[in-house]
Amino acid sequence: DTAAPVLAVNNIEVIYDHVILVLKGVSLEVPLGGIVALLGANGAGKTTTLKAISNLLRAERGEVTKGSIEFEGARVDALTPNDLVKTGVVQVMEGRHCFEHLTIEENLMTGAYTRRDGRGAVAADLELVYDYFPRLRERRGSMAGYTSGGEQQMCAIGRALMCRPKMILLDEPSMGLAPQLVEVIFETVKRLNEQEGVSFLLAEQNTNVALRYARYGYILESGRVVLDGDAEKLRENEDVKEFYLGLS
Ligand code: ATP
Repeated sequence: DTAAPVLAVNNIEVIYDHVILVLKGVSLEVPLGGIVALLGANGAGKTTTLKAISNLLRAERGEVTKGSIEFEGARVDALTPNDLVKTGVVQVMEGRHCFEHLTIEENLMTGAYTRRDGRGAVAADLELVYDYFPRLRERRGSMAGYTSGGEQQMCAIGRALMCRPKMILLDEPSMGLAPQLVEVIFETVKRLNEQEGVSFLLAEQNTNVALRYARYGYILESGRVVLDGDAEKLRENEDVKEFYLGLS
């Protein structure tokens, strides 16, 4: 890809609890308007990488001890998670994390808390979210805790959209969802990318689906990038086929 990277992670090291070295020098780039997949087995360091970018490690007693992170050419390592959201980078955490006792619509509205551009704009974006996820419109008055896993995943992405993101860090969107719903989620990611210009970095254990929607992929093993390349090339790679696609 020749486009300038909108996100650049340069050789970061992450340590938990002062001693547990989990990321051992990870570098990656997301081009402007790109969809990039971060792949690897359970425990490889995907979530840690996303949390390092969105500055959410401190709550886990983790810290970036080496390297740098740039968004739109400026260092963002020292920003608070809130300021990062204002800069345009929003993370959708693994496991959805909706507020179970709020309705779908109330959950979506919590995504707009950092905004200062008035109610009209927020209302328009709510409609935009409902246009992308018609299912959420139908369920707008339902308590999130009583909706399905797929609806909660849609709600989590919808809430991120309410922050007007330039980039979404999406952690394991396919987790626990039936294959059909996984396709619905990824199709929507693709449309958000194409029509709203949102860039995506998505962590996935489901290599197969991730490499069908992403244009580029990085494979993490034990805190290191062991392979990266165009999605098409990775899908043809013999090691990827054997270890991650189950096609050997
Ligand atoms: P998953 O699919 O489970 O999300 P992952 O690739 O995202 O896997 P991480 O969650 O980033 O992997 O975990 C990477 C490594 O860091 C694992 O060995 C994990 O045990 C360890 N780890 C994660 N969080 C902490 C923590 N708060 N304290 C100590 N070690 C941690």
